[in-house]
Amino acid sequence: MSSGREFLDSALSQLKKAAEVLNIEPGIHLYMQNPKRTLIVAIPIRMENGEVKVFKGVRVQHNNARGPYKGGIRYHPNVTVEEVTALAMLMTWKCAVVDLPYGGAKGGVVCNPKEMTKTELERLTRRYTSMIYELIGPYVDIPAPDVYTDAQTMAWIMDTYSQIRGYQVPEVVTGKPVSLLGSLGRNEATSRGVAICVRETAKYLNKPLKGATVSIQGFGNVGSNAACILYDMGAKIVAVSDSKGGIYSRDGLNPYRVLEHKNATGSVINYDGCQNITNEELLTLKCDFLIPAALENQINSRNADMIQAAAVVEGANGPTTPEADRILYEKGVLVVPDILANAGGVTVSYLEWVQNLKRETWTLEEVNSKLESRIVSAYASVLEKSKKHEVNMRDGAMLLAVSRVAEAIRLLGIWP
Ligand code: NAD
Repeated sequence: MSSGREFLDSALSQLKKAAEVLNIEPGIHLYMQNPKRTLIVAIPIRMENGEVKVFKGVRVQHNNARGPYKGGIRYHPNVTVEEVTALAMLMTWKCAVVDLPYGGAKGGVVCNPKEMTKTELERLTRRYTSMIYELIGPYVDIPAPDVYTDAQTMAWIMDTYSQIRGYQVPEVVTGKPVSLLGSLGRNEATSRGVAICVRETAKYLNKPLKGATVSIQGFGNVGSNAACILYDMGAKIVAVSDSKGGIYSRDGLNPYRVLEHKNATGSVINYDGCQNITNEELLTLKCDFLIPAALENQINSRNADMIQAAAVVEGANGPTTPEADRILYEKGVLVVPDILANAGGVTVSYLEWVQNLKRETWTLEEVNSKLESRIVSAYASVLEKSKKHEVNMRDGAMLLAVSRVAEAIRLLGIWP
């Protein structure tokens, strides 16, 4: 089975579980199982050597009962329609958990950005935007960055959309460069949300955050910023990794220095004073907090039993399979689910969108304090739900999200 299919099955099984506990009407459950719209496009690009290549792109809009569709765009060779559909569904739940007035969507292009020049990536982004143009818009569907897309990608999308419209529309995307009406704090917002969840979990487990050991899989936007923020909060980062492998130091490493090393060499591996380890070894290290911040299905039935962390805080989307989730629950490992743990990104995306619509810019302190209060309050609501229903935090988060979305669908009614 492809990992995209496995990921979608896992998203559907989480929904089914929540729908059963909440006694959701079968019609509304069916409604939420399916994306409202899926657009698949074939994107022709002239490469720098003159050759024409055609890339497959997709935009999945899962549900908009609570507001415009919202979700990132991923560039990766393994992108599939199933994977993007699962990610779109997760966005619906995530926005509902943090109580944002948004629905859920996701986009993806099957490509390997590491083998493409900046010009080729710009052409791909602009052509993809022009092909999904009719489906997106500030009150319709607002894309953002995801794996291997960034603020520059968002600037190209904003410009392409604005060129077609004939006027500047910054609020069509979030995660833009700050000089182009992006929000202060957006770049590290997902990681700040992850760090807040680690801090709240430490409080809940009665563990001091100072000196707590943390292992992080993935050293991209989410992983590297989470490492730096947690390091600044006093945690001890003992291991980090990227697609080439990982590094471990029992005494803790300085993530700012590791980032310089990665920028200079292209990977975290071979960092002075650390031992090289595999990604598999990183996941099973003894530590207080494990933060998967790379791709989905990383913690699965093959390795879940070997996880030695006290808590897993999911920076990535869908890093734990349902089978692994069950094993971790039985082992007593607390899992803070993706739809809560990495909701900081979409929260500051929402704050960016509000600033754009009002043509205002807020200070970093204002943005961070709004982010902090939303994540802390969502964390408390999820914990409360999971205690009330005697379920783990993922099920608690799903119960909160699915009940909010189902309520909106019910109130809006099925038209005609
Ligand atoms: P990124 O492209 O910046 O970084 C991804 C990192 O994962 C890189 O360090 C890469 O080397 C590493 N990686 C790739 N394959 C790997 C493998 N097989 N094993 C170990 N590491 C591997 O992406 P990102 O924006 O940091 O996103 C990471 C995860 O967080 C994704 O699941 C994404 O959906 C999720 N997420 C991102 C945001 C955001 O704001 N960027 C928000 C919410 C969720």
